[in-house]
Amino acid sequence: MTSYRKRILEQEAAKADSSDEDDYVPYIPIKQRKKEKITEAEKRLGRVAILKEESQRDSTNEESEGQQEEEGEMNDGEQDIGIQSKVSLLDQHSELKKKAEAKKETAREKMLKEEERILESVAEKKALMGVAELAKGIQYDKPIKTGWRPPRCILKLSESYHEKVRKKRHILVEGEELPPPIKTFKEMKFPKAILSGLKKKGIVTPTPIQIQGLPTVLQGRDMIGIAFTGSGKTLVFTLPIIMFALEQEKKLSFVKNEGPYGLCICPSRELARQTNDIIEYYCKCLADDGFPLLRNVLCIGGVSVKDQMEAIKQGVHIMVATPGRLMDMLDKKMFTLDICRYLAMDEADRMIDMGFEEDIRTIFSYFKGQRQTLLFSATMPKKIQNFARSALVKPVTINVGRAGAASLDIVQEVEYVKQEAKMVYILECLQKTPPPVLIFAEKKQDVDAIHEYLLLKGVEAVAIHGGKDQEDRTRSVNQFRNREKDVLVATDVASKGLDFPDIQHVINYDMPEDIENYVHRIGRTGRCGNRGTATTFINKGVEESILLDLKHLLREAKQKIPPFLANMQSENEKYLDIGGEVGCSYCGGLGHRIADCPKLEAIQTKQAQNIGRRDYLAHSSADY
Ligand code: ADP
Ligand code: MG
Repeated sequence: MTSYRKRILEQEAAKADSSDEDDYVPYIPIKQRKKEKITEAEKRLGRVAILKEESQRDSTNEESEGQQEEEGEMNDGEQDIGIQSKVSLLDQHSELKKKAEAKKETAREKMLKEEERILESVAEKKALMGVAELAKGIQYDKPIKTGWRPPRCILKLSESYHEKVRKKRHILVEGEELPPPIKTFKEMKFPKAILSGLKKKGIVTPTPIQIQGLPTVLQGRDMIGIAFTGSGKTLVFTLPIIMFALEQEKKLSFVKNEGPYGLCICPSRELARQTNDIIEYYCKCLADDGFPLLRNVLCIGGVSVKDQMEAIKQGVHIMVATPGRLMDMLDKKMFTLDICRYLAMDEADRMIDMGFEEDIRTIFSYFKGQRQTLLFSATMPKKIQNFARSALVKPVTINVGRAGAASLDIVQEVEYVKQEAKMVYILECLQKTPPPVLIFAEKKQDVDAIHEYLLLKGVEAVAIHGGKDQEDRTRSVNQFRNREKDVLVATDVASKGLDFPDIQHVINYDMPEDIENYVHRIGRTGRCGNRGTATTFINKGVEESILLDLKHLLREAKQKIPPFLANMQSENEKYLDIGGEVGCSYCGGLGHRIADCPKLEAIQTKQAQNIGRRDYLAHSSADY
């Protein structure tokens, strides 16, 4: 403390010392006398000195650390306030309050700026574009043209009407020249065959993401579609791809070895199969009604390339693939993407997060002309959105119902279960609802252990994870889908996009490391208007940061927060609602800001350890 106050005290003390010699008082110890003098001096100097000292201390602190500004500002000019001041206390109070507010405001802005800086510093330096495009400097600035136009009755409507339609359904759109929302499949000009095919599946009215997304895609626009789990995103990219392929086929029949014209990439084999089945279903609806038969092919690992090649040789319109097999086949020149003009990536953020980013770049480089690019997911952290935009031309971003990104129809329960009690507790948990029930665990060994335990207890259970062969995986999924089995135990390989009918209950045997994966896991239930329950086991072994993310996610989705989560407080929690992005712009977690992101920290540490070595496969992509 080199402050004014200290100096005064020292001077006083020095004076006291010297006067001691003249006026010797033997029976009072020197220490005590000094103390008395100090107290006296303090009294005399009174409040002014203390205030001066404080303001001085604050200003030195401000200079040296640039922090604690809030206090600093509040003390500025404090000399003219206080009891002696002529200004009334009430006025002083409001004045102080104003200053504090203003200071808070600038502190907030400063934090937001700092966050932007962090986000920028971690942004990918390399755009999400194909090597060839980058090399040739090709940049497209106009969206692809399609033959589809909104019907006249929609074109007649005013923008403010469209705004109302969007507002009512909580649809947020961003972008230039926004396509209008359309409230019926019929007005979207789908042929009768498709309409009746939809009806057979119980699909009559489009969901919000479909209302805004389908016209956007049909009009040829690039798009980022973010909508909660089970909200019907699949149709937003599959129906248009079918219509476009049909248009091409009608113009000129696809010959041998031609195609694909449209490509869908999914992060897991099971999801790819599911998407392929949906496309096949609607193609069949069209063919049954006299339209030309569109050929589609599924390219995933674990099944024979020979069969896939046979299909491709006939010429294909639409291909659904997982990145690994697709890259492999492109690399071996088994087919080309020369005429491919349409690319949809489902669960796009998860794919980038899982380390498929470089693969995606490679896949992009096989495209020969401009393509329409679509990205979908229930979660899309800002970092990935920004990065993905570099792959898009004049994109339209559609966002429906953030609210934790999970469906609000899911009752989310979190229970404290000790590690050793988890297995037994699963049995109890299974009593909560009738089947079918889905159980998730992070590790393959745990999946096997749970599976074995349930079989022992007489539960009709099947299991899937990346370590099982594809035949086994497909059989298990089919048995579960057809309700021959009651319980499916799985790793995160089954957490993204899979749409099983009427799952009643999702049990998380453990909390995933990433809150976004939690959202995708529980999103297997409560789909498309149905209700569902999710139970998550947590205990001391779970990282605090993920628990905080969970707490805020539960709060956002208006769920009950158990006391042990409610009592958890973090140092940085007070900064959560400073505005800007909701939650962390790097990973999407709601319990922290980007400056405290554990995932970013982990990645940076890893990068520091691996300088010079490309390590994108460090993620567990082997499981997919
Ligand atoms: P997401 O990809 O958004 O998680 P999906 O596309 O898998 O959701 O759709 C979830 C379920 O909802 C599917 O079973 C699908 O058939 C059904 N579905 C899709 N659109 C509609 C709709 N407009 N009306 C009723 N059900 C729908
Ligand atoms: Mg989906």
